[in-house]
Amino acid sequence: MRTVDPNPKTIALTFDACGGPQGSLVDEPLLATLQELAVPATLFWNKRWIDANPDRARQIAGNPLFQIENHGMLHKPLSVNGRSAYGIAGTATVAELVEEIEDSRRFLRGFLGVESNWFRPGTAFCDDVAVRIAGDLGVSLAGFAVNGDAGATLLGPVVAKNLVRSAPGSIVIMHMNQPGHGTAERVRAAIPQLRAAGFTFVKLGAAPV
Ligand SMILES: [Zn+2]
Repeated sequence: MRTVDPNPKTIALTFDACGGPQGSLVDEPLLATLQELAVPATLFWNKRWIDANPDRARQIAGNPLFQIENHGMLHKPLSVNGRSAYGIAGTATVAELVEEIEDSRRFLRGFLGVESNWFRPGTAFCDDVAVRIAGDLGVSLAGFAVNGDAGATLLGPVVAKNLVRSAPGSIVIMHMNQPGHGTAERVRAAIPQLRAAGFTFVKLGAAPV
């Protein structure tokens, strides 16, 4: 008899591509690793990153292993008063906030044929008003429970151990635009340990709004 686990141990790996002068590379070893190990993932793309990699973006978006979502036009934290996060000024008005979400959402639809209802702001910061406005737009803001980049100086097995301790249903944030920073190696080390611990990898799926 088939049974359905009422509490499946899932984990969602998400990778941001932030764009801009320091953030427009493609971590090909990471993508190859996800592909080789058949690990689905959700990729948050800033429009500037797509502009720098249009052909590759189209290829990756055509791969059913990956869910493509919105990381904004200018990578600004979402705010209605310009509040900054990590030294990056946020959107300063409601209109600017809406543009940061909707202009890139429209671009994803037009350029990639992707219907995006998840948004992760630049620096993952947003204020309370931003959450409400995004909800009104039919967009869910993707936070994260586990920072998979925090271990940039740690060895893969250590990061894997940290990930294995994640609560089921956790969203892990990492980056796919920083090749050479050990992300691919850490992911490669973590996948088998997570699978051995009973985790299944999932995409974010449909947004809950
Ligand atoms: Zn980013």
